Amino acid sequence: MRRFRLGLIFVVLAIALPARAQDRLNVIASFSILGDFVQNVGGDRVRVSTLVGPDGDVHVYAPTPSDARRIADSRLLVINGLGLEGWLPRLLHASGSKAPIVTATEGLAPLKVGSDADPHAWQSVPNAKIYVTNIRDALVAADPGDAGVFRSRADIYLAKLDALDREVREEIARIPSSRRKVISTHDAFGYFASAYGIEFIAPIGVSTESEASARDIAGIITQIKTEKIPAVFLENISDPRLIRRISAETGARVGGTLYSDSLTGEKGDAPTYIDMVRHNIKALTSALAE
Ligand code: ZN
Repeated sequence: MRRFRLGLIFVVLAIALPARAQDRLNVIASFSILGDFVQNVGGDRVRVSTLVGPDGDVHVYAPTPSDARRIADSRLLVINGLGLEGWLPRLLHASGSKAPIVTATEGLAPLKVGSDADPHAWQSVPNAKIYVTNIRDALVAADPGDAGVFRSRADIYLAKLDALDREVREEIARIPSSRRKVISTHDAFGYFASAYGIEFIAPIGVSTESEASARDIAGIITQIKTEKIPAVFLENISDPRLIRRISAETGARVGGTLYSDSLTGEKGDAPTYIDMVRHNIKALTSALAE
């Protein structure tokens, strides 16, 4: 009887205790938004870290030798693909890693900008659901023993994303259609625009690597005046001076900061993907709704 009781205590402890640190699946995500998706699906069964952390710019990242070591120790690497992580092939080679790589955008329909794919697919919530299912399947393949945990956590998170998508559509409906037009620094909201019907115009293209020319800026200033575009927005990853200058020259007000390619730290406005979308939609409706 005593032995039985001891056995029972061990079983209860094994179920109640979170996975021990060394048992957790070591996952690296290329940037903060992917890291948040992995954390939501993996819970305490994964140890997630990101190469490009909060408020970092994934377009122009310069990997460090410690990144190569971290990748070498990881069991799964999660990337966006669609040309976002141009610095990755060299880093992978340097790391010598044989860990599987999951491309979270696999299977979604990319938007094209000229001949290139627009990488910012996460800005539409229906696309974020594709990211999450790809991540779920990759976690299940990397750690089949925890498949049940990954599947049920993914279901819960996917339901939250469905609710978020409905919320965004309800909020956008409050903005008069003539006012659904804004300026952002770089062209990061193409998927948001096509999913939710707000037009974004940006002086810089889909990558922050390029700079706006004097002609681009002059063109935008004219466009804001002729089309009476009500608001311009800053970004957490871009230099605010350009947008402030455009605002000063046109009278369009600065509607706040939009988070496009990066989450913030815990104390910021957008520590998770869901917080980021909510923050952006609030910034847009308060600048555009009448
Ligand atoms: Zn971007």
